[in-house]
Amino acid sequence: MNRLVLASDNPGKIREFNRLFAPRGIEVVPQGKLGVKPAEEPFGTFIENCLAKARNASRQTGLPAMADDSGICVDALGGLPGVHSARFAGEPKSDARNNALLLEKLSGESNRRAHYVCVLVALKSADDPDPLVATGSWFGEIVDSPRGENGFGYDPYFFLPEKGKTAAELSEDEKNGLSHRGEAQKRLSELLRSRWGW
Ligand code: IMP
Repeated sequence: MNRLVLASDNPGKIREFNRLFAPRGIEVVPQGKLGVKPAEEPFGTFIENCLAKARNASRQTGLPAMADDSGICVDALGGLPGVHSARFAGEPKSDARNNALLLEKLSGESNRRAHYVCVLVALKSADDPDPLVATGSWFGEIVDSPRGENGFGYDPYFFLPEKGKTAAELSEDEKNGLSHRGEAQKRLSELLRSRWGW
């Protein structure tokens, strides 16, 4: 079994990655289980924060590590909430307050274009000069009224014109087949095979 430390302790993420990678002989281990102290995420881009997290996990464990970072970028807001997506409306983290703030900022704005982004990085070691980088994007529009009960975060307001539905109206499988996260995971999985021979 190849071991890959995940720079997160989110049980949902651990489960999702293990479902994807276990059949490939890759075991994904949460960093907390190995006593890793989480990294700071001070940067303005997903890729920089992602690299910082993966490098921190690899440095503290001496093992190959992977990190993920995701969020939503709204064109009319110059890409915000961006790396601040989880805590757009401040502490404590709240999807309801994040969504309310997003709609307030878009009030009277006709350009509703937005995209979700997911970045995944894998490093063989903390000093690996050639990290694997996989990204995925998912384009849609922010609507004023929520629809659907599935998903999380901004999903009830993220409308997909080609589907005539919001992301929260899709089943989990349907969302995985279309989403930024699904795309990035597929790409990372291919890179692990082609570049690391895993
Ligand atoms: P993190 O990747 O756990 O740091 O979370 C990023 C934040 O981006 C989440 O808390 C959500 O607010 C937002 N986000 C990322 N992916 C999605 C998604 O698929 N649906 C809804 N919100 C998302």
